[in-house]
Amino acid sequence: MRRNIKQFKMRKILLFLFWNIILLCGNYLKAQNVYEVIDSTDIKIEARINFIRNYFAGDREQAKEFWHPKYQQKKDYNYAVFIDAVSRNFSPKDIRKNNKLLISELEMLNDTLSYCKIEVFTLDGLHYLTYKYFIIDINGKLFFDNCLPYELSRFQNVPTEYLDFYISPYHTISRSALTSASKTVDSLYNVLRPGQNKEKFKIFMCSNIEEMDILSNMTKYYGYVGGFTNMEEKYAVYAYDSPIHKHEFVHLILGKRSGMGYILGEGIPTLYGGVSPQISYYEGRMELQEGYRKALYNFEKLYNREISNAKNNVPSYTIAAVVCEYIRRKFGLDELLALYYNPNINDDNLLVELARKSLITKERLIDEIEVIIFEK
Ligand SMILES: [Zn+2]
Repeated sequence: MRRNIKQFKMRKILLFLFWNIILLCGNYLKAQNVYEVIDSTDIKIEARINFIRNYFAGDREQAKEFWHPKYQQKKDYNYAVFIDAVSRNFSPKDIRKNNKLLISELEMLNDTLSYCKIEVFTLDGLHYLTYKYFIIDINGKLFFDNCLPYELSRFQNVPTEYLDFYISPYHTISRSALTSASKTVDSLYNVLRPGQNKEKFKIFMCSNIEEMDILSNMTKYYGYVGGFTNMEEKYAVYAYDSPIHKHEFVHLILGKRSGMGYILGEGIPTLYGGVSPQISYYEGRMELQEGYRKALYNFEKLYNREISNAKNNVPSYTIAAVVCEYIRRKFGLDELLALYYNPNINDDNLLVELARKSLITKERLIDEIEVIIFEK
């Protein structure tokens, strides 16, 4: 009897502990949930809410399966990565874990097509961005789709020989400016990849931030990007008045490579196309000279992008271009391009490789590169 009472007490304690653990787990799950403010009594809406929830419960490997089958062979299937670093560097599961997510809109457009908006707040409650995704039903299975294919009608399509323009209704750009942009692509091709088949690229000319954002699945974003290139899909997006953006043209002409290096990846476009339509490579080099004189940075800090002002990309783009100019002078353009396409070359081993090829020490190599910075 005594023994039974003891056992009963023990069972009670265990049960108490058990329920506490369940409650704690429940709170934990709730804290990580995706909330919605829309009416989810409709069965179609409910299915889509569950679809969104499941997506934000998955890791990087699972994420791609939620996207339209047309992206299955692509590396960049979610176009949010072109603007936003969080979308680029975190899995959906981690985005959910590190933020508060709220489904603020979810509407059926027809039987198979719908769209949703998802608000992302930091854990402190600050609004970070609003995603917009289309959701398409293909044979009873749901998939996300990028906004870009659905946004084409807001741009005016003007084809030229090498560039297919999509122009914001707020821009007025002369036909001759578009033709000369196309000619610029032609001449860059002739310099960089002579004899190669010339491909045609799409250019989205935006006139404001909203237009740029929506092409990257966002209706609200607090950061700002002047332009970007989707090399896989062969299009560039930018928000400048001029259709000529040589830096992005070079990205498109060089195309995708397996290496991950910033120096060759941004250096060649900056060397041949400037930092942006407003800042040439030469002007970038003058800024570097000034920065060196004021002791704002040194080669190491520039090379590793540890410079204090992260908002100004002129120093880091230009140092990359200076390294590329050094390679072009010493080994020629073919070798510069061979390094660009070499999957084993990255920012960490590039200098060692160059020193080895030049039969000099890394220190000497850096001295030789720095000479280029200070040229008039
Ligand atoms: Zn670039």
